[in-house]
Formats: sequence, structure tokens, C-alpha cells
Amino acid sequence: MSSRFPKVVLIGVDGASLDFIKKNIKRLPAFKTLIENGASGNLLSNPPFVSPALWVEIATGKKRDKTNIRGFFSKKTDRKEPFIWEILSLTSLKSGLIEYLMADDRDRNIQFFIPSWMESNIYAKPDFLIPYKQWTETHLVRRNLFKLMNFYSFIKKIKMKFQKNKDIWQVLYYQLREELKTNAFIKAIKKIPVDFAAVSFYAADAIQHSHLKYTDPEYFGIRPEPKLKESIFDIYRAIDRQIRKIMNIIPKNTYIIIVSDHGQEKTSLDIFQRNMIKPANFLKNIEYSGEGNTYALGNTIHIQTIPENRKDLESILRDAVIKDSDINIFNVFSSENELSFSLKNECERKIPDLINKQAVIGGKVINLKKLIKQVELSGIHSKEGTFIATGPGIKYDFNINEISILDIAPLMLYMYSMPLDKTFDGKLRTEIFTQEFLDKNPVSYVDRYDFDLTGSESGEDKHLEEKLKNLGYL
Ligand SMILES: [Zn+2]
Repeated sequence: MSSRFPKVVLIGVDGASLDFIKKNIKRLPAFKTLIENGASGNLLSNPPFVSPALWVEIATGKKRDKTNIRGFFSKKTDRKEPFIWEILSLTSLKSGLIEYLMADDRDRNIQFFIPSWMESNIYAKPDFLIPYKQWTETHLVRRNLFKLMNFYSFIKKIKMKFQKNKDIWQVLYYQLREELKTNAFIKAIKKIPVDFAAVSFYAADAIQHSHLKYTDPEYFGIRPEPKLKESIFDIYRAIDRQIRKIMNIIPKNTYIIIVSDHGQEKTSLDIFQRNMIKPANFLKNIEYSGEGNTYALGNTIHIQTIPENRKDLESILRDAVIKDSDINIFNVFSSENELSFSLKNECERKIPDLINKQAVIGGKVINLKKLIKQVELSGIHSKEGTFIATGPGIKYDFNINEISILDIAPLMLYMYSMPLDKTFDGKLRTEIFTQEFLDKNPVSYVDRYDFDLTGSESGEDKHLEEKLKNLGYL
């Protein structure tokens, strides 16, 4: 058992809407306890609502113009402002991070670490956390879901017949993923002494994107699915259960902060149905003879291959057209070391029967069914997310109306009695603390926390290198 527990536990709930939580508060006991015992309000996000940029804004207290992390294209090494855990390391404080977007294990004083879903490498530290990443990344979870379920009473009740419905399957998969993640997080904070710990849940965002339509089938013009009407609630309840588990093992005087990077709302009908590229076996499916890997981040497909193939593929993808037309299919992005592409807006949204058409790609005629699938996106990111904080000095049952995602980093720094950075774009929202606490803990400032952010080789780079080596590139 660890002798030291974190002073602050940051729980990220991607896409969480406080509105939804409050509407269902009677059935979400952990959220209810936290809201009653702390301060809460709508956490205002910054458009465009791109998760990597937002999570970095949360952990730095600075806007993306300063952080230089603007979206899925940004690399971790592009970051120009320190994360809160790097600032904490200045006073030798230690941190542990589970699935925090854009965080890196080489950030200072990181004692335990699991990379987020954006990274497909099977890397974690220390080694006892690797199995979680292994299970989720290799889709072992998906394949063994029902076997695993025997260990989890909460989904034991679900009948086998649901296995055939992909959407029900997805809800189960995400619940289990969050369950396993929490177990990994709890194991880590029990074993490894840290001063700051963060864990992020992404299930609510993922399920809202695809399942919001079931809450209002009439609006979306789809058939009602009684079994899925509550799937979004089921996900919030699963996250509520994870939060309760975490609350049960940390001391009472721990600060708990719950934040989302944005909220979710219904998509407008004109963008409800859309086409999407299937990343798996893409190069094989366009009958490309060279070797390489493709993977998706958001709607963008990234290609890992050698430089010669990259050039080759860049022009093949740029010239790809729908057969018997001059409509280009892909947006292609290339830089010195990277090649990625996405569907052109027109192909994504305005050609509903795209999958039934053919394309000419690299001089070959290809059925687009092989490369493209049709999806329904019923939930879209919105400005109003969730903020809840409890702990010493924080008022009870206090409603802050609105708070910015940029205000979170200053808040956390204040909780450690460390001076705030004058160059923060966010500010300390003192009104959530009691006057007595503020009097005892005056706010102080430094001009700026300055860092050399160029670290050593990260696990990610090492892993990528290994992957390329195995493919025979290096
Ligand atoms: Zn997000």
C-alpha cells in the first residue's frame, strides 16, 4: 500500500454534459455526492472543439495559440507550454497519468503512465499497467467481452442475444473498457506514491456521437430502438460507478476535479449521415503494391511507410477521382515525415450513395464499398461541458454558472499552494472557495514558468521505431 496519496485527482470525462448529469442525478449517485459536496457548473470550451487541443488547454491553462497543439495533426513534440504536472515537478511533486490526451511519459516526474486511445502502441509504465493497453489496443477486449463479463457483475445480466447488435455491443465494450481502466488506475495509485493523478474516460463522447439518435428517433427519422433508448445513460452510469470506486480508495481530504473538454448536442440533420474511410487494409484495398500501415485518428487516416512510398502515395491519393467524373475524393496532407488524408467535404456529406460508386485510384478501378462506409453521427461537440470540484476549502453545493476550461490549471496549482503563472489565459475562480480558506491561503504569482520542453526519447518514439524495424524500414 502506498504511503502517499495524490492531493488532487483529476477525472476527465470527455464530452460530459452537466445538463444530462443533472437531469439524471437521482440515478448517478457519485456525481450527486460530488455536486452536493462541492462546486459545479458549465465548463465552457473553446471552439473548434477538437479534443487534443482542448485537453492541452485544460492542463496548461493556456490557449492553443500559445500551446501550439491545435488538433489531431499536432504532435506531442509541438507543444510549447508546460503541463500542470511539469510545473508541479519543480517542487519535486510526482504525478501519474492514465490516458490523458497528448501527455507523454517523458514529461517530468511521471511515475505511472498509460497513453491515450490516440496512441496505438502497447506501451505503459510501469510494466504492470501494460496488460490494460494490450487488451484495449489489440481488441482482445472486444473478442473476449463475454468471457470477461463473468468477472463483472454489472453486465452479467445482459443476455447473449444482444451480441448480434453492434450498437449494444459497443455500449458494453465501452463500459468494460472504462471498468478495466479504473482498475488499472486504482492499482497504480495504491502501489505508487504520487502527488497528482489523472484518469480520463472517453466512453461518453464516443457513445454520444453514435447513440444520441436513439434518444430522439423521431427527430432523426429512424426506427425507435427501445433497448438503446438509455444507452447514453448506461455509459454515464458506468462512469459514475468508476468515480465511486476511485472515491472509495482515496482519503476524504483529496481534491477531486471532474472536467470535460466539451459537451455534446444533437447534430443538425444535414450532417447526420456521412461517409467515412475504413482505415483497415486501405493500401491493400487500393491495390497498392508497396508496404505500409494505415490508422485513423478522428476522420483522418495516417499512413506509416518509407519516404519513397510516401511520395508515391501522395500523388496517387491526390489524383484519386470518382469514376466517370472529375470529382476528387481525398484531401491529402503531407509534411516532411508524415502523410495523412481524409475525405473531401463533398464526398463526406453530399454524395449519399458514394459507397455504390467506383473510383479510379492509381490507374485502377476500385469499388468504393471496399474503402468507405456509411455512418450516422447523431451527436456533435458543443461548448457547454462539465465542471465539478470538491475538497478542502471548496464550498458545498455551490453553483458557479460558468467556468472556462482555461481556469482549471490555475485552480489545480492553487490547490498545491503554488504561485500562478501571470501568462495563464485562465484565472483562479476564487468564488468556489470559502473566505476563511482564501484568507489562510493567499494567492501568489510568478511571471512565467519557463521550461525546456525538449525531453529525451519517449516510449512512443521507441515503439514506432520498433514497429518500423519490424516492417523492415530501419
Ligand atoms: Zn473530446
